[in-house]
Amino acid sequence: MTFKPDSPTVKNVAPSPNHDARDARIDILLLHYTGMQTAEEALGRLIDPEAKVSAHYLVYDDGRIDQLVPEARRAWHAGVSSWKGATDINARSIGIEIANPGHEYGYRDFPDAQIDAVIALCRDILARRTIRRERVLGHSDVAPARKNDPGERFPWARLAAAGVGLWLEPAPIVGGRTLSANDRGGEVEQLQKQLARFGYDMKITRFYDDNTRSVVTAFQRHFRPARVDGLADPSTVETLRRLLTR
Ligand SMILES: [Zn+2]
Repeated sequence: MTFKPDSPTVKNVAPSPNHDARDARIDILLLHYTGMQTAEEALGRLIDPEAKVSAHYLVYDDGRIDQLVPEARRAWHAGVSSWKGATDINARSIGIEIANPGHEYGYRDFPDAQIDAVIALCRDILARRTIRRERVLGHSDVAPARKNDPGERFPWARLAAAGVGLWLEPAPIVGGRTLSANDRGGEVEQLQKQLARFGYDMKITRFYDDNTRSVVTAFQRHFRPARVDGLADPSTVETLRRLLTR
């Protein structure tokens, strides 16, 4: 069933049947890449009743924007996810899919026209909704063990310069004490506590387990994208510290 778009940046409405009622206030803006070979293929899936997935918006390479689900409805894009202890991220978020083949099919830089459109759409949403800037997130932030999107090529710094999302210049990459797989003890515990405080779903085990590596990797994709290796090097730890104490 067609509907009137929520944003003047929308070019076309392509209604998806994949949504239901919200039972929470919108306070997260969640960004994705489509991770499919073409945007047309992604659209087909996002409106397919069998696929049971959707997003509110789809932004094409050339900057065209389709709206698939009204913002008032709960779209199905986050899956099993968590942020700051909340787990029904779909109920409280607006989801934007950004066309890019992703890590599986040839991850590439996002074209300027596409990012300009993402910025315009996000600015419009943020002008209408109360969403704190640290709650403009990537899918990998809320589902670090399962998801890589929108990934380390996504220009979070450009968005922040336009008033969208939180970004601090990452601490420089230097040598030094680095925590990695199978490390144990107080330093690992402190890292885990800081990641949990920031919002990630992080169990405090004092052990640099798979979950810790996934969360550090997700943090790097978003906040220290120059090197994404899942190792808690001094730059990663210092960037996290600065974000927590800004
Ligand atoms: Zn996603």
